[in-house]
Amino acid sequence: MSLQSFIDVARDSHFSIQNLPFGIFQPKQGKPRVGVAIGEYVVDLSVLEAQGHFRSPEFQDGRVFSEDSLNAFLALGRPSWRKAREMIQHLLSTETSTLRDDAKLRARVFHEQRDVMMQLPARIGNYTDFYSSYHHAHNVGTMLRGPENALMPNWKWLPVAYHGRASSIVISGTEVRRPNGQTKPPDAAAPVFGPSKSLDYELEMAFLIGPGNSLGDPVPIDRAIDHIFGFVLMNDWSARDIQAWEYQPLGPFLAKNFCTSISPWVVTLEALEPFRKPLPHQHPEPLPYLRQKDDFTFDIHLEAHLKTSSMDAPHIITRTNFQNLYWSVAQQLAHHTISGCNLQPGDLLASGTISGPTEESRGCMLELTWRGANPLKLPDGETRKWLEDGDTLTVTGWCEGDGYRIGFGEVSGQIVSSTLA
Ligand code: MN
Repeated sequence: MSLQSFIDVARDSHFSIQNLPFGIFQPKQGKPRVGVAIGEYVVDLSVLEAQGHFRSPEFQDGRVFSEDSLNAFLALGRPSWRKAREMIQHLLSTETSTLRDDAKLRARVFHEQRDVMMQLPARIGNYTDFYSSYHHAHNVGTMLRGPENALMPNWKWLPVAYHGRASSIVISGTEVRRPNGQTKPPDAAAPVFGPSKSLDYELEMAFLIGPGNSLGDPVPIDRAIDHIFGFVLMNDWSARDIQAWEYQPLGPFLAKNFCTSISPWVVTLEALEPFRKPLPHQHPEPLPYLRQKDDFTFDIHLEAHLKTSSMDAPHIITRTNFQNLYWSVAQQLAHHTISGCNLQPGDLLASGTISGPTEESRGCMLELTWRGANPLKLPDGETRKWLEDGDTLTVTGWCEGDGYRIGFGEVSGQIVSSTLA
């Protein structure tokens, strides 16, 4: 019999007692603080902390759970994260009476998720987006350069990435304003200015950095995991027409910096442990600083759902898996710091679009419609080359356990018209 909580958790709930993701919530009355999700509830860790439940050397007597971001908790590192998880799991289990039999305390500790506002889980100082799906890179490269030159010569030697914009990372549910910018239609002699006509989503995941490293002091690959707290879902909204005109030679800029959405609940590495899979063989063999014995990935099912303003229900347009990433998170982190670059608690490192080998596993409209050539056909007869105003795009994902799920909830955003419309 697996671990059970005295809180009822539906079989298909993302938030089983095996999961216990961390996030920042604001109750109707009171300031934002740290909580964990279970079933349809949020557990208010600031109340448990004030009661002395986390009074142990691992927490350095700080009040990390009454903060309005996870940053202080992130900085503590894995022994503290493990201890917190053990204590919370213990308090929520059917075996423990502390909360189960104390109605007064329960009333203060549990909030219904529908009654609280979720906020960004961390003050994200820096954000990096990798490009680690082989199939995404190959499809995009094929469109731009043809199948013979699909991958750039560096792609299988290093995890390609760009430094993104942290200030425009928003929480799920935030509206996405269609950006304006310069684009150059193929036949035009000069660029034009106006709202993007090819707004896209990118299905991604991202991880939050715990303890950082000092400037000049790279993280060796076999220590990379010590610096990773957990994962969220991400949608890297992208304006393809702006991107096509601006990206050479330095990469994406305004095409990506107008909005990036993430899900509110951070699923820890501890919760994902049962879903570890060996990283597939890499050829050519990476350089030694990117190699470790038993490198790994995770079996995480991922979906993107599209709902236009005239549809009654969302339609699944992408089904993919985290295992479609070629580079591991340890390789991404080791590569990021090999120059001496210092990561800090709360930094966010994203996977890049997670496309797989099949058509339905393509993680963005650019690939699904092959740059607009094959529009998506939706169940109500509508078609889409790109996202239109009023469309809502939702990414969800989970690991399927034996009788429980470790889920990520969702990251959702609705497109609203440009300021010029
Ligand atoms: Mn991206």
